[in-house]
Amino acid sequence: PTMAHSQALLVLENFIGGKFVPCSSYIDSYNPSTGDVYCRVPDSGKEEVEAAVKAAKDAFPIWSAKSPLERSQILNKLADLIEHDLEAFAQAESKDQGKTITFARTVDIPRAAHNFRFFASSILHHVTECTEMPAMGCVHYTSRAPVGVAGLISPWNLPLYLLTWKIAPAIACGNTVVAKPSEMTSVTAWMMCKLLEKAGVPPGVVNVVFGTGAKAGEALVCHPDVPLISFTGSTLTAQRITERSAPHCKRLSLELGGKNPAIIFDDADLSQCIPTTVRSSFANQGEICLCTSRIFVQRGIYSEFLKRFVAEAKKWKTGNPSDPTVDVGALISKEHLEKVRNYVKKAQAEGARVLCGEGVDPLALPPGNQKGYFMLPTVITEVKDESCCMQEEIFGPVTCVVAFDTEEEVIRRANSVKYGLAATVWSGNVGRVHRVAHRLQSGLVWTNCWLVRDLNLPFGGMKASGIGREGAKDSYEFFTEVKTITIKH
Ligand code: NAD
Repeated sequence: PTMAHSQALLVLENFIGGKFVPCSSYIDSYNPSTGDVYCRVPDSGKEEVEAAVKAAKDAFPIWSAKSPLERSQILNKLADLIEHDLEAFAQAESKDQGKTITFARTVDIPRAAHNFRFFASSILHHVTECTEMPAMGCVHYTSRAPVGVAGLISPWNLPLYLLTWKIAPAIACGNTVVAKPSEMTSVTAWMMCKLLEKAGVPPGVVNVVFGTGAKAGEALVCHPDVPLISFTGSTLTAQRITERSAPHCKRLSLELGGKNPAIIFDDADLSQCIPTTVRSSFANQGEICLCTSRIFVQRGIYSEFLKRFVAEAKKWKTGNPSDPTVDVGALISKEHLEKVRNYVKKAQAEGARVLCGEGVDPLALPPGNQKGYFMLPTVITEVKDESCCMQEEIFGPVTCVVAFDTEEEVIRRANSVKYGLAATVWSGNVGRVHRVAHRLQSGLVWTNCWLVRDLNLPFGGMKASGIGREGAKDSYEFFTEVKTITIKH
């Protein structure tokens, strides 16, 4: 990779105890749409994590003693400040991650601000439980308190969106945090740190340590003074985190990968289903844990669906992420692009057909993006359920389309993977959508839509897709410790 000589490299610093502090070593961070190194990220380890945990511990007594209303006002102020800088955040997220500027402007950054606003509000509305035992002269009630220093670890696909989805509930509940964003997408977290003081977040309440999973991430997971870890990322990393944290009996929330099915019955409204399923397959380059990657279509409409689906997928424009007319930006890294391409090659070697995209259609890129990590939306068919393309999470712009005959059969096939995060069901038959939704092994089921979220309700996966749920009540329960108190009068 070539250095971006024309402009100075952006150098990030850790944010510990309310101050930016340099690190002794750094990692290169690439602009995925050009292949240039444009930023240097601290390569933190034990020492930096130790300092951040100490700052968070020191800040805990004051922050946890504040009323929910005081914390709520600060979270709202932080939301205002992010919204005020929305365009700068969106530009930074697009450059750092490769996602389109349109997606960053309309999804990532508005949602990051909304995460703070949502938990600023929801923290004011929780009630605890109370029961009476008149015969014993007793009343019992529960009280909830923040746990302490929360360790938050997030992935590269929706950088600020997913990090704030953890920071907001953690601090709304009165915890202090040490956060570690992905080393590949650290810039927007660093930008957010610059707003904390102005929002009124006291020093040490939010600390951000940048670096790799193996060094900074593990130091956080293994730190004895961090009793809870909220992690979003791959299933493999979650297994490692579970092992490393086991000696400390830590509380874990794990939001992991998916291999999400779309089930399309022959009475589906295809005018809605086709554009939505193209979006659910290729939005954010397919780099969303909720993206569809196995499309089961009932036999009677299979060939019509396939024809219209491929035509729609071909309309998606791949190119420079900062061009507002572009739908598909760059993938996160050269290694990831290779991995995704290899899945397509493996499918072809097994006898599957690639109907559009990788290896089939020409990819024309603007001169400045020739070394970027781009790939066209790719549709694979005639692929077996046992194929790795139908079993493993690809996490790129690749989707498989296969036919099915009966409801019973498609439920069995949809459930025949190790993951269980999200599914979509398309049918005009209300009885059928309820029946199928109940039987799918999936934490989320959308019928006749995709990605419509009410943040109040539980979010998370079954099986290898995770442990625990996030949402208004679920995040409150995760980030607080409950106590039952009995009073005899
Ligand atoms: P990843 O597991 O490689 O990394 C996630 C984070 O964990 C990064 O910050 C990384 O540095 C850190 N990490 C890596 N090894 C670690 C270790 N040993 N100890 C502590 N921390 C460590 O995942 P990724 O490639 O960044 O993200 C893509 C994955 O995330 C996909 O599998 C995707 O499905 C999943 N994801 C899930 C959800 C969800 O809500 N369920 C949302 C988004 C992404």
